Amino acid sequence: MAKKVGLFIERPGRNHGDEAITISVPEALMTEPGIPKRDRDVSFFSREDPIENMALSESASAEWSREERILHSPEATEFFDQHERNMEPIVEWVRHSGDLEPTGTPSGVDVTEAIRLKARELGYSEVGFTRNDAHYVYQSRKRPMRNDLPHAICLALEQDYVKTQTIPSLEAEDTHFGTYEDQGPLSQELTDFIRDLGYSIQVSGPTWHYGPMIPLFVQAGLGQLGANGQLLSPHFGSRARLQIIYTDAMVTHDDPIDYGIHQFCNECQVCVNRCPGRALMPDKVWYRGVEKNKLVFKRCRPVMARYSGCGICMKVCPIQKYGMKPVMEHYIETDGEILGKNTDNLEGFDFGDKGYFGPGQLPTFERTFFDMPKGRAEDWVLLEFRDKLFANAAANGKEKEEMWSEFRSKVEESIDRRGEAVDMGMDLGV
Ligand code: SF4
Ligand code: SF4
Repeated sequence: MAKKVGLFIERPGRNHGDEAITISVPEALMTEPGIPKRDRDVSFFSREDPIENMALSESASAEWSREERILHSPEATEFFDQHERNMEPIVEWVRHSGDLEPTGTPSGVDVTEAIRLKARELGYSEVGFTRNDAHYVYQSRKRPMRNDLPHAICLALEQDYVKTQTIPSLEAEDTHFGTYEDQGPLSQELTDFIRDLGYSIQVSGPTWHYGPMIPLFVQAGLGQLGANGQLLSPHFGSRARLQIIYTDAMVTHDDPIDYGIHQFCNECQVCVNRCPGRALMPDKVWYRGVEKNKLVFKRCRPVMARYSGCGICMKVCPIQKYGMKPVMEHYIETDGEILGKNTDNLEGFDFGDKGYFGPGQLPTFERTFFDMPKGRAEDWVLLEFRDKLFANAAANGKEKEEMWSEFRSKVEESIDRRGEAVDMGMDLGV
C-alpha cells in the first residue's frame, strides 16, 4: 500500500530556466520545518561556549591532515599547489569584501527577487534569504564581522555529478576544489550587482568563513540537515559548495521547510552504515540546542586525510545520487523503501589501496591509523613535550637540553605558521 502524502512542496527547477518541481513529502516522515531546536539552549551555548573555527580549535590535526593529503602522490601535490595559488586572491577578496562600498543608491523597493534572479542566472541553483544569526559566528571572527548587515543570502553552487560519483579520487577532489574556485568570480559579480542596488555586503566563503553555514541554509528553506552532517537540498543533496553574502539590502526572508529529511535519515542510515571510519552515529542527540546526528571528528579526519578527502557519506546518499523528488516518490509508492539501499549502484565504492566494497562490506584499519595530533597546534607541541619529558625522566642534562631546544623551535615554528593556510579549504587560523 502506498504511503499517504502529507505535503506538496514546490521548488524552482535545478537550473535557471528549468521548470519548477513538486516534491511530495510522505506524511509518515513529517516532523517540523527546518530542524528541531531549543532556542534557549542555542543561546546558552553560544554565550557560554562560543562556537569556534576548527581551522583554529583543531589546527594541530588540520596541519597534519593537510600534509597527508597534499603528499599523497606527486599528482596530489601538484593539484593542491595549483589550487592554493588559484585561491589566494579569492580568499583575500573574501576577507576584505566587507570594506567595499555601495556603488548605487537604494530605490526603497524590496530587491529579494532581483537578487534571486541574478544569482540563478549566474548559476547558483539554490538561493535563499534569512536573518544573519550571531549564534552562528565563530568567536575569532566576531570582530572582523560587520554588525550592520542584518540579512544573509544563502547560495549553493552544484559540483559536477559524474566526478562526484568517483569519490574518493583526485577527480572528485577536482570538482570539490574547482567549485570553490568557481564561487570566487560568481560572488564577485553578484556582490557588484547588490552594491549597484545601493547596499553593503560581506562575503563568507568560499573556504574562508565567518561561521557554520548549514543552520542558515536550513532556516532559509534550502534543505535539511542529513545524518551525514551535510545540507540535503532538493536537487543535489550535499553535492554543492555553500556560500553566504551578508547584506543590509531590503529583502524578505524565506521560511524553513520540512522536506521529511529529519525522519527519513532515521530510516535510511545508508551513510551511517557505509562510513569507512565508523564516524557517523545512527541516533540523533541534542547538541548545543539542536537535535541531530553528531559526527565523531576523530574517526573522520584520519580517513579524509589519507583517502582523497573520503566523502563516502556524500557519495552513498540517495538524495545526492538521485535527487529528493524521486527518492520521496519511491518511498511513497513502495510503502517506505529507500531508493537504492543495499544496491551496489548506490552503496558500492572503491577505496584506494583497500579495494572495492559492496553493500555490507567495509574496510578495516589498524588501531594506530586513528592517531593524530589534537587541539590547537601550539597546545599540541606542549603536550608532546610533556609526554617526552615523562618518558625520558632518566635522561641526562645534555639530552634534556636537546629536548628543550627541540621544543623551543617547534613552538617558534607553530607561531610562525599562524595565519598560513591550515586546512585544505585554505582557511586561516586568524
Ligand atoms: S568523510 Fe568518510 S570517514 Fe568522514 S564521515 Fe564521511 S564517510 Fe565517514
Ligand atoms: S545517506 Fe540516508 S541517512 Fe545519510 S544523509 Fe543521506 S538520506 Fe540521510
